[in-house]
Amino acid sequence: MNMNAVLKEANIYGELFDRQKIKSHELALTTAAQRADKIRALLKAIMDARPAILEAGYKELRLNPTDLDAQLLMVKGEAEFIARHLESWMADQPIQGTLMTLGKKSYVRYEPKGMVLHVSTWNAPIAEAFVLAFGAMAAGCTFVLKPSELAPHSAQVIADIVEKVLKDDEFVVLNGGAEVSAELLKLPFNHIFYVGGHGVGRIIMRAAAEHFATVTLEMGGKNPVIVDQTADIAEAGRKIAWGRVANAGQVCLAPDYALVHDSVVKEFISELGKSMTSMYNPDGKGYNKSADVPRIVNIRHFERIKALFDDAVAKGAKLEHGGEFDAADLFISPTILSGVTEDMRIMTEEIFGPIICIVPFSQREQAITTIRRRPKPLGSYIFAKDRAAIDFFLARTTSGSTVVNHNLVQSGTNAHFPFGGVNASGIGRIGGRYTFLECSNTRGVVEDQYPAGDPNIMFPPYSEKYKGMIAQMLGKEIKVPNGVINLINGIIKITAKLKGK
Ligand code: NAD
Repeated sequence: MNMNAVLKEANIYGELFDRQKIKSHELALTTAAQRADKIRALLKAIMDARPAILEAGYKELRLNPTDLDAQLLMVKGEAEFIARHLESWMADQPIQGTLMTLGKKSYVRYEPKGMVLHVSTWNAPIAEAFVLAFGAMAAGCTFVLKPSELAPHSAQVIADIVEKVLKDDEFVVLNGGAEVSAELLKLPFNHIFYVGGHGVGRIIMRAAAEHFATVTLEMGGKNPVIVDQTADIAEAGRKIAWGRVANAGQVCLAPDYALVHDSVVKEFISELGKSMTSMYNPDGKGYNKSADVPRIVNIRHFERIKALFDDAVAKGAKLEHGGEFDAADLFISPTILSGVTEDMRIMTEEIFGPIICIVPFSQREQAITTIRRRPKPLGSYIFAKDRAAIDFFLARTTSGSTVVNHNLVQSGTNAHFPFGGVNASGIGRIGGRYTFLECSNTRGVVEDQYPAGDPNIMFPPYSEKYKGMIAQMLGKEIKVPNGVINLINGIIKITAKLKGK
């Protein structure tokens, strides 16, 4: 795109931004019922577009309709949950008073941050777009969505859906690549959502700093799965085979490497391989013939994954299972590598493909050291039957979320659950009320209601009584039960009313 075109678009975006700004003030005054109605209308349009969504997902990742329906179920669950709870989330939340606030009422009001931008990605484009959109709508914000150009069919379907339901001054989808994001990032949005890799995450955070916009960054990294010697190995193999191969490994939460106790490593590799076969190549005709093995999104990502694999094998990694690559078909078979070492790129970069690396450990501390050597992960998984082992690993690691004795199931299954990462894997939380909170300003309000004692006592020139009170309070721990404070407040209120104040 030439510079003139960029400038022209910048002006278009600026004009749209100005109209959304005006609309944002109007949206701030809408009720929970009005917002919920819009969310339901959008959900209906999404469900009506199901055939187009299934077609787009097949074209982009060769996804099975059932996998796409599962994504739709996540979107539906989120919309229904928000619509059900929004009134209570929007209600003012009373704050307990203190001795210093006698005669006053304090509460929290959740008000919309205003204008929200979402720069989204391609691996689950429908859920990534709408889960965040619903949260912003619930909070009463305007929304600009920039889907990923790597999922162009879904991006078009998303634009068509939104256009049917909402005007562009409230919610608009702007399709294109990095050049569109770059122009949008110049505008002073109040909050920016980003879902994608670290490189662009830094660009987003820098751009946000220019306008002091808040950000929610949903990124990824290397998610560890620990397989303790007390785990049910067959079950671990089955669950991890699914967790690693679903969406062809292009899932931010997918287990990236398995830390396996060396007493069970052989058995685990065997069970993992067996499960990969029984799930994704049951008739023995080949993984590439299965309707359940999706494809890599494009040749750049295919070559990126292949380069990680080649580097590992060249440096001595052992191929335990799979290892088939077909560039023309963007196909990679479910693959297990053992004998991986820290100098291999596959042990430092997120794989985001259907390959899992096996790293044995003999002492539990060793597994902890391996995890701590890397940035804090988005998800971590612990397979163990021994409660002490589970607690040992939980207490000594951190991640955005953890599942014990399963993987991946923390996403899209429970709108009460806070979803997000830690530092390099993400900032902020989404899902249900958490998305609403990311788009809301938590405004503290104090209302001075009834005169308590001498209301002028705190103003200079300070009286001896006031100086004495302050000194006394500084000298000891102030511990007045809430019930007493509430009682005094009640008495102040009744006295004021009796006095006609
Ligand atoms: P991507 O290439 O689709 O990029 C994401 C978005 O950034 C796109 O909209 C793209 O247009 C935009 N973009 C690209 N370059 C840009 C630039 N220079 N300036 C501004 N915007 C730009 O995403 P990707 O990196 O391939 O996504 C995969 C990553 O996303 C993985 O690391 C995965 O773990 C992570 N992910 C995280 C979550 C989560 O919820 N935490 C979900 C899905 C994916």
